[in-house]
Amino acid sequence: MNTIDTNNEFIANTYARFPINLVSGKGSLVYDENSKEYIDLGTGIGVNAFGFSDDEWKDAVIEQLNKLQHTSNLYYSEPSTRLAELLCKRTGLKKVFFSNSGAEANECAIKVARKYATLKYGDYSHNTIITLRNSFHGRTIATLSATGQDVFHTDFGPFVEKFVYANANDIEDLRKKVSENQCCAIMFEVVQGEGGVCPLTKEFIEEIKNISKENDLLIIIDEVQTGNGRTGELYGYMNFDIQPDIVSTAKGLGGGLPIGATLLGEKVKDVLTPGSHGTTYGANPVCCAGAYNIISRIDDNFLSDIKRKSQYIYDELKDCKHIRSITGLGLMIGIETDKDTKEVINKCIEKGVLVLSAKTKIRLLPPLNIPDDVLKKAINIIKEIIEE
Ligand SMILES: *Cc1c(COP(=O)(O)O)cnc(C)c1O
Repeated sequence: MNTIDTNNEFIANTYARFPINLVSGKGSLVYDENSKEYIDLGTGIGVNAFGFSDDEWKDAVIEQLNKLQHTSNLYYSEPSTRLAELLCKRTGLKKVFFSNSGAEANECAIKVARKYATLKYGDYSHNTIITLRNSFHGRTIATLSATGQDVFHTDFGPFVEKFVYANANDIEDLRKKVSENQCCAIMFEVVQGEGGVCPLTKEFIEEIKNISKENDLLIIIDEVQTGNGRTGELYGYMNFDIQPDIVSTAKGLGGGLPIGATLLGEKVKDVLTPGSHGTTYGANPVCCAGAYNIISRIDDNFLSDIKRKSQYIYDELKDCKHIRSITGLGLMIGIETDKDTKEVINKCIEKGVLVLSAKTKIRLLPPLNIPDDVLKKAINIIKEIIEE
């Protein structure tokens, strides 16, 4: 079968794909149908946290597969229970709702915030959620509505009401938007991933804290991309002095299997009640067994190694010809060059390195456990291509 042609005929045309057909991988390396080897610095967009077919993760998944693959949420089950306990212990948040994707984790966060406000005020008067311009929260209609980028909205209206966008890192605009609306929450990414790997400033996050306290707003942090070790802390917010009320996450959590999680703090932990929310696949035992393995391996030593690798990449690239800026945190890195990004990416593919883009930047989301020599080889190739 010619996979590329058959795919183009039978799969909805929603992705601008590169013309490579990936067939197998191990760790940070992946092979196409012609056995060409690539170093993967994209991890399926931050999903394969420990690379391809990691042995320990695979053992955990297979062990669970051999017991049972799904139960429904009508019954109790150990894998989701111990994963929830681990996530709560590591974050200080109190309860978890499991789903299957980032968008779904955000849908839950939005529903919880709205219900919290409805219970508090007795009506729908305070249901506005402030999100940021340049944010990305998902592709469902509600999470698209929360997303502060017009490019994703085109043709899909009408949208869900009561999302108001404030400029990222603009304290005055945030204060203005909060004072003009009757709000229940502020929702944001600490590093805007799809928006171009743009971190929020410490000052802005400090102000979110103040404004939330003054107005009793919930702090919802979208950790779908920044979560699960990616930024050098277990969750991105842990790089800052802030305690969220709700954290949504997905991508790297499952190590390659689909899982989303919405973590609920003290204020909102009992907002959801039987029948108020649910999802058939949620808390899938196989996904949860894999996720438990991933989260339990992201300990302090591992996190400091992520920071060390991050510093290595930054040091290697910071003085390169044609590089304008390097942004991000941990192993979530944006590279702005004065070259054509698409061209750089294609040359990287040619030389056997897979990288991502975010807006006009080159984006790196390498496996968190990428070996030093493999990382070095890949960074040297990228450097050569950008500098030439
Ligand atoms: C990828 C992403 C989402 C959407 O996740 P899906 O699993 O694709 O639904 C939401 N928020 C952020 C910050 C993301 O990076």
